[in-house]
Amino acid sequence: MKFSERILKIKPSATLKAAAKARELKSKGIKVIDFTVGEPDFNTPETIKTACKKALDENQTRYAPVPGTLALRQAIAGNLKQHCDIDYKAEEIIVTGGAKHAIYATLQVLINSGDEVIIPAPYWVSFYEQVLLAEGKPVVIPTDDDTGFKMTPTQFKKAITPKTKLLILNTPSNPTGACYNREELAAFGEICAAKNILVLSDEIYSRLTYDGFQHTSFVKAAPAMKNKTILINGASKSYAMTGWRMGFAAAPKEIIDKIQILQSQEITSIPTFIMPACITAFNSCDKEVEAMRKEFEKRRNIAFEALNKISGISCCKPSGAFYLFPNVKNFKKSSEEIADLLLEEAHVAVVAGEAFGAPGYLRISYATTVENIREGLRRIKEALEKLC
Ligand code: GLU
Repeated sequence: MKFSERILKIKPSATLKAAAKARELKSKGIKVIDFTVGEPDFNTPETIKTACKKALDENQTRYAPVPGTLALRQAIAGNLKQHCDIDYKAEEIIVTGGAKHAIYATLQVLINSGDEVIIPAPYWVSFYEQVLLAEGKPVVIPTDDDTGFKMTPTQFKKAITPKTKLLILNTPSNPTGACYNREELAAFGEICAAKNILVLSDEIYSRLTYDGFQHTSFVKAAPAMKNKTILINGASKSYAMTGWRMGFAAAPKEIIDKIQILQSQEITSIPTFIMPACITAFNSCDKEVEAMRKEFEKRRNIAFEALNKISGISCCKPSGAFYLFPNVKNFKKSSEEIADLLLEEAHVAVVAGEAFGAPGYLRISYATTVENIREGLRRIKEALEKLC
């Protein structure tokens, strides 16, 4: 078969591939501890599910407006005001099939062949591939654990060329959990405003921050950039709704209108009966979000402590998301080889740093039970200490 050049450039999602591999081993009866995919292990809160069932009973099963119902977009706007103190109108919001699709659609409507998109590494696997799909040129800025995996304004400035169209920011970060504070974001905002660079700000983990760290939305930190920013968020991580596939973009109306055209030719909208459930999530689930956040913080502390007791490993303490990104450069193997070894010999599944543009690290998702975290890290310690 002669396939399109477009698809031949793209690799499968490394996180989903690693998760599928772990699932396959589990289906063979092997007791795999799975630290791969980044998704809350909690069930979706009952009130959200009830709202969905009610919508089905009311036969809300026909086409919905392409950008999502007005009521849902108003609920999202209210939520952004409540938690980020930023003002968006319903017409500046589009509901998409997961945050991933919001990012895809944004890049498709903004990026032309050869446009440069700056991506600080370690980056979430799909940023890079989606820029390629849009025929853009990913310009990767490496960061490491010495600087808490944060890009500096100097690094950013150096990477800018006349072809730079967009910067992708992701705070809290997948895969490192690093969070930019308000001043850091404001500094990037100033540079982008001066150089006329757009910002895609992926804030999908905004509700999951620890040690009292307060998430600041990029638009709040850099208000002058509001007309050049595409804010991405969704229901998946905050409300344990990964399988519902609900995300959104909030941006200037002219960008949202173009995404709407694209979406009208692709998926039309997300399923109609999911929308009332998402309204419940955005309007009235703060208590449930806080309970999950607290549990993630406890798990982070347990995993962080256990990891740093393994000789040869060092790990930053992240302020957000639900990942740890330990440095394994002391071992005489690549992180890909270490991930393979951990899966084959210790039956612990992790994702190698190579997938995130950061060889020498492993991503460990601690969105699993305390029991699994303790047992998984015990197995990692045993396997790695043999390599020393
Ligand atoms: N974002 C999650 C992760 O990194 C879900 C899988 C994916 O879409 O990549 O594991």
